[in-house]
Amino acid sequence: MAESLLRPLGLIGGMSWQSTQIYYAHINTAVNARLGGNHSAPLFLYSYDFAEIEALQEAGHWAQAGKNLADMARRLEDAGAEAIVICTNTMHKLTQYVEDEISIPLLHIVDATASAILASEAQDCLLLATRYTMAQDFYKGPLADKIATDNRRLHIPSEAACEIVHNVIYEELCRGIIRPQSRKAYLDIIGQAADEFGVDGVILGCTEIGMLIGAQDTKLAVFDTTSLHCKAATDFICADVE
Ligand code: GLU
Repeated sequence: MAESLLRPLGLIGGMSWQSTQIYYAHINTAVNARLGGNHSAPLFLYSYDFAEIEALQEAGHWAQAGKNLADMARRLEDAGAEAIVICTNTMHKLTQYVEDEISIPLLHIVDATASAILASEAQDCLLLATRYTMAQDFYKGPLADKIATDNRRLHIPSEAACEIVHNVIYEELCRGIIRPQSRKAYLDIIGQAADEFGVDGVILGCTEIGMLIGAQDTKLAVFDTTSLHCKAATDFICADVE
């Protein structure tokens, strides 16, 4: 096979497969848009059974989940991947396990998201994500720190609203179920935060949320982490040809 100038990327997905298929489509579409013809992205994909991951999360067995992800990242590197993308915000809780195991870069979803916020006009951003991502510090800590360098602020919905956002993700979006009443519930939560904290941006901080709401549903600036992560992945893949 002739040597390609495109850099192969390893995707750790299946969390859930509903959003992994969006990563696959977005990255291929973006590579083709840049290079034309029949070009597409060189990708290695490992797709987990999400029920197993969800059970580890629920039980708080994060160390086991971290070892699983690290093992998979190693296999993707051994197969020829030159960088790793974890196709979920929540499992970025475990990046240390992965980074300790590999010698190739991990394209972190928080870096892609923070850069987009800093390049925008948004000053106060609401984070919508899983309960883990909204409540724990592994994601919102580094994200808040990065955007605070330019005096931007991160906001989290009320506890009751977090519960609604979380349940819609696991019981609907990860199963491919899109309900208009859930869209309305999300938009109400965004409206409430706009009234309460004056938010002018909303971070879709779970890779399935873009299936439910998008820029067409709100006047606020929308930061869809799936799209932003895919853009970073495409930049990496095409870095040697542009
Ligand atoms: N895909 C989701 C995220 O971006 C949630 C599923 C998971 O727990 O990985 O956080």
